[in-house]
Amino acid sequence: MLETGAIIFGLLIGSFLSVCIYRIPLGRSTGLEELEAEQADAEGEEQQDDTQDEEDIAQAINSEHFEDKVTISYPPRSFCPHCGNQLRWWHNIPVFSWIFLLGKCAFCRAPISARYPLVELLSAYFCYLSVTTFPLPTAIVIYLFCAGLIVLSFIDIDYYLLPNVITYPGFLLGIILALINHFFHIFSLPLVPTIWDSLLGVLIGAGVLELIARIYMWLRNKQGLGMGDIKLLGVTGAFFGMEGAIYTMFIGSLLGSFVGIFLILIGQGKLSKYLPFGPYLAVATLLYIFTGKELLVLFFQTLGTVR
Ligand SMILES: [Zn+2]
Repeated sequence: MLETGAIIFGLLIGSFLSVCIYRIPLGRSTGLEELEAEQADAEGEEQQDDTQDEEDIAQAINSEHFEDKVTISYPPRSFCPHCGNQLRWWHNIPVFSWIFLLGKCAFCRAPISARYPLVELLSAYFCYLSVTTFPLPTAIVIYLFCAGLIVLSFIDIDYYLLPNVITYPGFLLGIILALINHFFHIFSLPLVPTIWDSLLGVLIGAGVLELIARIYMWLRNKQGLGMGDIKLLGVTGAFFGMEGAIYTMFIGSLLGSFVGIFLILIGQGKLSKYLPFGPYLAVATLLYIFTGKELLVLFFQTLGTVR
């Protein structure tokens, strides 16, 4: 029962995560003042009838500067980025709608990216995994963290960017949860038991990576690591402590190197090409959360037998 609930909940949240992935990078060029003015406008116009509203939005979507105006809450309903038509509720059912519509917009038949059902399925899978692996209060925090990683990874793949609007609140949440756990012991491992573990995690995670980035900058005179990667590792440290941060750094770099070398071998990549690092960090953190140190032990055992 709990498992079924977790899967349905994960699918629904996954739908929202797709919206975040699409909209957060678009909205970033909108200044805060502009945003507030817009919200005030929107409130004033609420009396307008629905059809007028829909026409306005459809018109706005086709206008040149529309992408600058998109926020998480505007426009309120999901729309087709190709034709601007607002989706009906039956176009919005996670995974199933995409299958029934054969991956095409119901209005203009433009293809809908397979990423939408993929994000929904990923979200459902990690919601299920969290609930079946951890006791409930811990599972909720772990799933929330997974959801954040899904959003960050896809935005990083698209834009080489890990937005502050996600990493900063994530960092703050990690510290607050550690503080709560410090006094009330609500959450179990791998979440940090004390505030000191959390602060040490931030220091090691963000601090050491910052140091590596500076040395790299000094040696090669170009940026090898994004500030976003450093912030993400700081967030990981805040939630999972020093051990989680070091594991993520190590396994993330290893995964990144393997994939990079593989891409060069099959002739798809170049040594100088910049690859987003966020997804590797995300996968590494997920491995840490759900498999503990097993992979690391296996790695060093293999290294031992080779030697
Ligand atoms: Zn369309």
